[in-house]
Amino acid sequence: MMVLPICHLSHFGIFFDYYRTLIINQKLKDMAKGNIKVTAENIFPIIKKFLYSDHEIFLRELISNATDATLKLKHLSTLGEIKGDIGNPIIEIKVDKEKKEIRIIDQGVGMTGDEVKKYINQIAFSGAEEFVEKYKDKVEDTGIIGHFGLGFYSSFMVAEKVEIFTKSFQDDAKAVRWECDGSPQYILEDIERTERGTEIVLHIAEDSTEFLEENRITQLLNKYNKFMPIPIKFGTREETLPLAEDAPEDAKPEKITVDNIVNNPNPAWTKNPTDLKDEDYADFYRELYPMQFEEPLFNIHLNVDYPFNLTGILYFPKLTKNIDQAKDKIQLYQNQVFVTDNVEGIVPDFLQMLRGVIDSPDIPLNVSRSYLQSDAAVKKIASYITRKVADKLISLFKNDRKAFEEKWNDIKIIIEYGMLSEDKFFEKSDKFALYPTVDDTYFTFEELTEKIKPLQTDKDNNLVILYASNVKAQHSYIDAAKEKGYEVLLLDSPIVSHLIQKLEGSKENIHFARVDADQIDNLIKKDEPKISKLSEEEIAELKPIIEEIIPTKTYSVQMEAMDSSANPFIITQPEFMRRMKEMQATGGGGFMGMGNFPDMYNLVVNTNNELVGKILATKTKKKQEALIKQAFDLAKLSQNLLHGEDLTNFIKRSFELIK
Ligand code: ADP
Ligand code: MG
Repeated sequence: MMVLPICHLSHFGIFFDYYRTLIINQKLKDMAKGNIKVTAENIFPIIKKFLYSDHEIFLRELISNATDATLKLKHLSTLGEIKGDIGNPIIEIKVDKEKKEIRIIDQGVGMTGDEVKKYINQIAFSGAEEFVEKYKDKVEDTGIIGHFGLGFYSSFMVAEKVEIFTKSFQDDAKAVRWECDGSPQYILEDIERTERGTEIVLHIAEDSTEFLEENRITQLLNKYNKFMPIPIKFGTREETLPLAEDAPEDAKPEKITVDNIVNNPNPAWTKNPTDLKDEDYADFYRELYPMQFEEPLFNIHLNVDYPFNLTGILYFPKLTKNIDQAKDKIQLYQNQVFVTDNVEGIVPDFLQMLRGVIDSPDIPLNVSRSYLQSDAAVKKIASYITRKVADKLISLFKNDRKAFEEKWNDIKIIIEYGMLSEDKFFEKSDKFALYPTVDDTYFTFEELTEKIKPLQTDKDNNLVILYASNVKAQHSYIDAAKEKGYEVLLLDSPIVSHLIQKLEGSKENIHFARVDADQIDNLIKKDEPKISKLSEEEIAELKPIIEEIIPTKTYSVQMEAMDSSANPFIITQPEFMRRMKEMQATGGGGFMGMGNFPDMYNLVVNTNNELVGKILATKTKKKQEALIKQAFDLAKLSQNLLHGEDLTNFIKRSFELIK
């Protein structure tokens, strides 16, 4: 037995400086070639504390290494560098609670003693990088996972001692055993072993015994390794064989014990889209989110290998108010290894409500999120995803408009958010964004403007698009607009005021107005002369009488000569103020620190309505006041503004009137 010291460096700082350089420069290959032997007095406590905040990832790292070793073996075999049959190698996980051991066993390339010295003893000298470097020209993508050169050492986050038993695939290779207890010394010795491959034995530390629980391991395998490319065995299970057709009636089905393979090595996203049916996508959705019972609306298969490598399947879910919504998120994989379900910075914000999988080895992960967002490759990935989603929406719209219209209310929030936040998406959205009317007709923007041009162009040649946000609450205003033959859209998503603002800014001569923003003739002003039944003097006399009774801080009185059949008093809320207030409430728009916009309303008095004339003609002050109050309250009632004491008084007064 020989004991070799790892070379000593004087200071931990060197390790951190190196790691920082690695983070910033991403020039891992160059560094490794420069033969940096990174270490410190005792590096393991540092690893344990700082390197990975999530201790549980040790298993992912070790299974990734086992996978790499198996993929290398397969690769060498296809290149003809290994003679003979390599069989169907699998990876096995064993847990021994008594002995406090976890074993990760593979049948991959294994390591010679020299390789152990080179790849295991020299931290940050990533063998995977070197392998890919060496063979990169021979086969495009080997699917090898290792990147960071620190994966193996994550085992010291949970183990007080680690052993490696390994035998290289090379013909004359001697098997070796390596052992290290986390101190800077290690043991390396020759052993007898006939099987090719590597067995890692973790002697679990006192503070990590949770990982000796079968449930915990199953949970980890399910989280990180569910779709890894080499079959992973964890325990065995019983399977009942089907009875033969000619079996006697009292025959008992035979039970056999089989390997319990925990992963699906060929998940849908790794397959060719042309080989998949709708059903396969639906099945994969259930495989990803077993607890989701709602079917997704549609999916988008991502598949690109230049200028970056990315595969995946995204699903548009039916958005519900369910709070669990946030739980099933897009999962990010690298070469079929789960990395995270926080795809912030990689997937554009507006698509984070989607579900599914993205797999890309080209996303740098050992960097901060803010660095990620400024990374050129990552930006390209985000814009590729945006483009694919837009293209899919266009084709769905074109191929089956009716089905698309039926889905619209479930997807509009995502689309509207995308139109607001991504200019490229906004440009394309003209081809699929829909504008439904209160009567459930769905227009594209172009169709809408064509349709309403003749009637809804005002005297200044602006096209006025009328909309409602709530069919019930704005019923009387919608009615008044329809009376004139106008179309009224139903725009009811929370961010719609932002979207309207953006549409007005990007298209010429259009203007949006909510139906209750003014009396209808003012919303779309025509050059028609207005004839008022009341004279100018009478109007001048009546206005202050009304102003004396209503709270003028919130309501400003506006005398208008309208249709005599239109209501005498109408409360409106000016478009601009209301929209700004809504935008402020939903965030964005640069309103920070501007204070709250007050609620401002207009009381429109229809000087052509008979009642208004009657109010003016009423000579008893008390009677006149009662009429104004009653009319004002009715107007408030139709805007849902009558509450509390005012409502109580109104009801009392109304009963008095009908007595
Ligand atoms: P990386 O995977 O990024 O290369 P690791 O620290 O995880 O870094 O592993 C270091 C190296 O040790 C690997 O690149 C590989 O050469 C070697 N190695 C680790 N585990 C195995 C294994 N199970 N079989 C063969 N070689 C392995
Ligand atoms: Mg690794």
